[in-house]
Amino acid sequence: MFDTKILGTDEDSIAYAAKLLSQGEVVGMPTETVYGLAANAFDEAAVRKIFAAKGRPADNPLIVHISDISQLEGLVDRIPPLAVKCAEKFWAGPLTMIMPKSEKIPMVTSGGLDTVGIRMPSHKVARALISACGFPIAAPSANLSGSPSPTTAQHVLNDMHGRIPAIIDGGACGVGVESTVISFEGEDGIRLLRPGFISAEDLMEITPNVLIDKGVLEKLGENVKVRSPGMKYKHYAPKADVTIIDSSLEAFREYVKTHADNDTTLMVFTDSDCEGLDIPHICYGANDEEQAKELFDVLRELDIIGAKKVYARCPNKDGVGLAVYNRLLRAAGFQVVKL
Ligand code: AMP
Ligand code: MG
Repeated sequence: MFDTKILGTDEDSIAYAAKLLSQGEVVGMPTETVYGLAANAFDEAAVRKIFAAKGRPADNPLIVHISDISQLEGLVDRIPPLAVKCAEKFWAGPLTMIMPKSEKIPMVTSGGLDTVGIRMPSHKVARALISACGFPIAAPSANLSGSPSPTTAQHVLNDMHGRIPAIIDGGACGVGVESTVISFEGEDGIRLLRPGFISAEDLMEITPNVLIDKGVLEKLGENVKVRSPGMKYKHYAPKADVTIIDSSLEAFREYVKTHADNDTTLMVFTDSDCEGLDIPHICYGANDEEQAKELFDVLRELDIIGAKKVYARCPNKDGVGLAVYNRLLRAAGFQVVKL
């Protein structure tokens, strides 16, 4: 058991966190997407501590974070030409690229795969920490496996208290959903494995050949080969039974009028969605970006208020909205009512 410390973002705190990491410990770290649970990507024992702290299945690979493009070469066997273009356009930023891994990346880090996901975060504190360490940092989201990803240091503390020695508090994350994950196919193809702030439309500026993987919007069957292991696990789910209502505002109101009972909470965009409805509600944002930023906090809030049955308005399914929809779908266990 650790007495988990909350650290600031000053130089001394970052140096202290870097020291813990170089000693093989695990530290909570802010990034622009969500908080990460950081360890030395080369240190098998340290990486195992991440899996243990989260209760994460061993076949769910970790993303490796770098602070400078020069670090990429040693970590992968081959850099596809499209990856160079994507790095130029989207790094530093919320894009993870899957590439064939080099021998330097231990199998524990890659979840047993011969590929590795690499990302260069834009968050100043994350970059400073990686630079101070001098080694790449493996970091999944800093939540207990299955719960919503953390977007504040308090969320991390709620899940990781006693399990890790320290968390750097860098305030609320700007993006709020995890990075976009892509792989490369053939000379000219990008496969979108997990939508994020870098949207499919953004990627189409690199190549028109962007394929959205089936796992983004569909629940995959037991025997289907999953290209992005994290997408097969139950995730983000609050205790409440969540149903997405895919409809106009008018149809949403009609639906909840007839289906809501004393146990119902509504998850809506803004207060005005609920005008004339006498049902408790919680707002998660008026546009795609706000919804991305608020979603995980709202899912955690539903547990805090003890919500039992939730009807949620459906996010957009393009741009950043696709990332919100992808996470909410999992929170809802794929329950959607289309009107
Ligand atoms: P997290 O860091 O918790 O957001 O999870 C990272 C997710 O990225 C994993 O659950 C996978 O879905 C995906 N990922 C990471 N590395 C790979 C890889 N080598 N191949 C495919 N997907 C990956
Ligand atoms: Mg995660």
